[in-house]
Amino acid sequence: MEKKFTVHFWGVRGSIPCPGTNTVRYGGNTPCVEMRVGGKRLIFDGGTGLHVLGQSLMSKMPIEAHLFFTHSHWDHMQGFPFFTPGFVKGNSIHIYGAIAPDGSTVEQRLNDQMLHPNFPVPLQIMQSNLDFYDVKPGNPIYINEIKVETAPLNHPGEAVGYRVNWYGGAAAYITDTEHFPDKLDENILYLARNADVLIYDSTYTDEEYNSPRSPKIGWGHSTWQEAVKMAKAANVKTLVIYHHDPAHDDDFLDNVGEQAAAEYPGTIMAREGMILDVPVSVPLSESFPVS
Ligand SMILES: [Zn+2]
Ligand SMILES: [Zn+2]
Repeated sequence: MEKKFTVHFWGVRGSIPCPGTNTVRYGGNTPCVEMRVGGKRLIFDGGTGLHVLGQSLMSKMPIEAHLFFTHSHWDHMQGFPFFTPGFVKGNSIHIYGAIAPDGSTVEQRLNDQMLHPNFPVPLQIMQSNLDFYDVKPGNPIYINEIKVETAPLNHPGEAVGYRVNWYGGAAAYITDTEHFPDKLDENILYLARNADVLIYDSTYTDEEYNSPRSPKIGWGHSTWQEAVKMAKAANVKTLVIYHHDPAHDDDFLDNVGEQAAAEYPGTIMAREGMILDVPVSVPLSESFPVS
């Protein structure tokens, strides 16, 4: 029995992939975070990082995975048509997402993304077993002993935040969302409460967000300074600065990391390939199969 809870970062960049010589240290792939929890594989978002994760799974098939979407902006879905294990019979992918404001399900939106002339092969070509589930933000999802809590975020077109709980360990995945001007978002405070790991949309700096020349107010993203406020209020152990702006090169992000860690010790920058351990206390008698 696998008794570990680990968090793996496959894509940490917001908006658009940005490979290049100035982004090699943090990475250029768009959002995808994998949590391996007691042998279960939970994946958050299907940005281009999902393609990289998929390639790493090719030697481990058949696989079972639970894939949670925050929402269906391109940067969070674009890797899905390139998730190779999805095309292979014998694999099982459980897919979760909320109904969009236009009434469409996550299945419809993944399907639409792959329609001609946008993509050469339709979703129906995928030979793995795909199961779709509608997330109702506010309602929890259970996968054996794993409890996944959900809440609505503040983002154009809506988005869902997640918190994974397992035997005393908790990791929250909060992107994409914009903070409120006058108070902390109660939904996020709830998901982040005493979390071991808080992954938070810190696309901008406060200076960029409030820039008189090009303000980012109303764009649906937050700042690292707001991430620090949230982490302090929620008593988070490790704050992870995430969903980096494509315009922020490695040196810029180094600088953000230093400032954020000085403001809140235990803050780290999300980086492709980074793996975090979430401490858990699993009773000796508990076991379920590794998948
Ligand atoms: Zn995004
Ligand atoms: Zn978005």
